[in-house]
Amino acid sequence: MLSEAQALLKKVFGYTSFRGGQGKVVKSILSKVDTLAIMPTGAGKSLCYQIPALLFPGITLVISPLIALMKDQVDALGELGIPSTFINSSLRPAEIRQRLEDTAAGYYKLVYVAPERLTADSFAELKQKLNISFIAVDEAHCVSQWGHDFRPSYRKIAAFISSLPKRPVVGAFTATATPEIKADIIKLLGLNLPQVYVSGFDRPNLYFSVLRGVNKEDFVLDYLQKRSGKAGIIYAATRKDVDKLAEMLQRYKLPVSKYHAGMRKAERAENQEAFLRDDLPIMVATNAFGMGIDKSNVRFIIHYSLPKNMEAYYQEAGRAGRDGEAGECILLYHPQDIILQKYLIEQTVYSPRRRQHEFGKLQAVVDYCHTSKCLRQTLLAYFGEQTADNCGNCSNCRDDREIIDVTLEAQKVLSCVYRMWERYGANMVAQVLKGANNKKIRQLKLDRLSTYALMPEYSLQEIRDFIGFLIAEGYLGLTEGKYPLVKLGPAAVAVLKGKRQVLRKIQVQKTVEEDGLFEKLRQLRKEIADRENLPPYLIFSDATLRQMCEIRPIDKASLLRVSGVGEVKLAKYGDEFLAAIISHK
Ligand code: ADP
Ligand code: MG
Ligand code: ZN
Repeated sequence: MLSEAQALLKKVFGYTSFRGGQGKVVKSILSKVDTLAIMPTGAGKSLCYQIPALLFPGITLVISPLIALMKDQVDALGELGIPSTFINSSLRPAEIRQRLEDTAAGYYKLVYVAPERLTADSFAELKQKLNISFIAVDEAHCVSQWGHDFRPSYRKIAAFISSLPKRPVVGAFTATATPEIKADIIKLLGLNLPQVYVSGFDRPNLYFSVLRGVNKEDFVLDYLQKRSGKAGIIYAATRKDVDKLAEMLQRYKLPVSKYHAGMRKAERAENQEAFLRDDLPIMVATNAFGMGIDKSNVRFIIHYSLPKNMEAYYQEAGRAGRDGEAGECILLYHPQDIILQKYLIEQTVYSPRRRQHEFGKLQAVVDYCHTSKCLRQTLLAYFGEQTADNCGNCSNCRDDREIIDVTLEAQKVLSCVYRMWERYGANMVAQVLKGANNKKIRQLKLDRLSTYALMPEYSLQEIRDFIGFLIAEGYLGLTEGKYPLVKLGPAAVAVLKGKRQVLRKIQVQKTVEEDGLFEKLRQLRKEIADRENLPPYLIFSDATLRQMCEIRPIDKASLLRVSGVGEVKLAKYGDEFLAAIISHK
């Protein structure tokens, strides 16, 4: 049966081989054994249940938590010529009945359902008639309270399965795999002696980087302006930050939309749609955005502030480069973010034991931000995977920043903090160094300090950023609380005594080269997508367009060799893409 699976992989999906653990997972399911597959975001879990669905008799139920995204998944299958549908509360009752009847009549191979639906009367009546061979539970960690996406309705799945006249094979899929969650999935979904597959967590096509002490707004603006047209997500910690950053970027006419739980439902849906369709390819969002978003051509994920733990970070960052093409995952670190995250933990976690647990997890992210070791190694080690070599594809392995000596500037700032008795915040310190002449400064007699106006050639913002850099490097520290005060850090004395040099790395931006054909194909894809009323990545992925640029196919047979081109899509779009490639000079 595995050879049939291989044949389908090429014919329907257009891929030449299984990736990572996919082959094993498919084989296990096809041998009718319950299977738990733990694979990182972007590894290709969907294929692991879609291929068995095509080979089993009868239908496959896919249980998925996010009704807003089911339509996309069903559209994607439609593009491949696979008959499927979805059933959830976004449909009117008459439509639900119709779809259920069509399902019972055998019109569909895959049926996506929201877990709430399983216990609805209409479904209960019909389930006796449905020939369900296989149930795939996507985002299976939602069943566990230990995870960050707990959905109570997932707890009803096990009872549903045991109420079926014939027990189908059950597959569970997730990217989150702490031991507690794994145990919960097996127990609470009622998996029957499951085979468990944990595939490697490494995502070699992702570039990881941490930037400390940069001006975040400037960085993001500059980054986006150099990458016009590329899709990416910027994660901020609070709704307020999302609003502010999105508004700033929109002022610069960047194609940005936003998403957070404080917005109206309709507006959120509209923005998500604009993002999926590349109308507004840049999304500024809180962590409320992203689960189940399968957009494959996301090229960068920027964390505008510190994520709360490594699990959340890897899951969010993993949304870049699902198509296997290069993706960048950039974390902008500022020590003040720790204070915010601690506050959020205090507000939401009440049990002291759990709270300590969460603080510990936060510390792991802070350590990640400060390590000088390979970032990928650090990430993978956190998830229990040992890797021998440095990766050569993270900001610590591939440090292409310019190093400048800022010892003198550092001494100025440190002595100013010292002379201000460590009793002021970063903003006041910056004002004194700049030589701001305002009432408050005069009242506090800060203009009489010997460090007053020591750095007039810098802007206030530059001084504030520099203070941020000194904090990030441990030369300065911040007190906790709502208005943190700047203190001297452990390394300050050596610098003040001239015994230690302070070096700062300045990012030199690489300009991204684009081949003219790629851009042309991307535009063609967008035109077709709009005509078909679908998101562009469902027509072809970035990886597929990239390969077209490399192979430059001249006829249908050679176009079919491109990864991601199967027979149905070849028939639908082959001619247009061939024409564009052949006419490109
Ligand atoms: P996950 O659910 O594990 O996060 P998806 O199922 O959304 O990942 O798949 C991510 C991307 O990888 C999709 O664009 C999919 O088409 C692509 N993909 C999956 N399997 C393969 C494969 N064997 N070869 C090439 N691309 C693949
Ligand atoms: Mg998925
Ligand atoms: Zn590395």
